[in-house]
Amino acid sequence: MAMRAQPLTTNSEASADAHRCSFASCHGEVAAELGAKPLCVEHFLTVSIDELETRSRKLKDQAFESSETTAFRDLLSSCAQQAHRLSEDERNADTRTKARLLDILLRASQLSQSLRRSPRVESAVSIYVRREESGRMWEEETWTSTLSRHGAGLICRHLVEKGGLVILCRKDKGERARARVVYCHYDEQGRRQIGVEFLDRPDFWDFAKQQPVNAEPV
Ligand SMILES: [Zn+2]
Repeated sequence: MAMRAQPLTTNSEASADAHRCSFASCHGEVAAELGAKPLCVEHFLTVSIDELETRSRKLKDQAFESSETTAFRDLLSSCAQQAHRLSEDERNADTRTKARLLDILLRASQLSQSLRRSPRVESAVSIYVRREESGRMWEEETWTSTLSRHGAGLICRHLVEKGGLVILCRKDKGERARARVVYCHYDEQGRRQIGVEFLDRPDFWDFAKQQPVNAEPV
């Protein structure tokens, strides 16, 4: 049975014995590395699957690309490269290890394709943003700074709190979508930037009508 991945040991513990697996009390022979932690084959397998699952779950809740997405891309590519190398090593030729290495390769490739399907697009679309709750109704004309399948970043002069509900209305098509504010901060020019995620319009920006991006190797 595969062990559930436990938290990795700290850097100081790991560097004390850099040639040994850094996983808990394993100290097995190092075969791979994940996030700068040396790992044996067994722990490379358990830790990568665990990391891939945790991170992809987390990114599903995110409105658009962030430094976390970038870090995840790097991790996927590192996992895939190492899984490929290990699968060609005859010491890992037993059927079970080989199948698990191939599983990592497959998952990394699927995840990196799904990340590619929902890219952040630097694009300005003219919109109206509205608040329709009684007591604080307002509307302003603005434009998006980033788009993603699940949301957008936009400039908003009105004060809105994280978690607040707004309506986005496309000026070109008149389509409306309800959205929730997921962040609110000021950019370098002192403008308020808010991030929103759609509640009921999964393809508000018509991503599905755009050309699919060719699949590339991980
Ligand atoms: Zn180990």
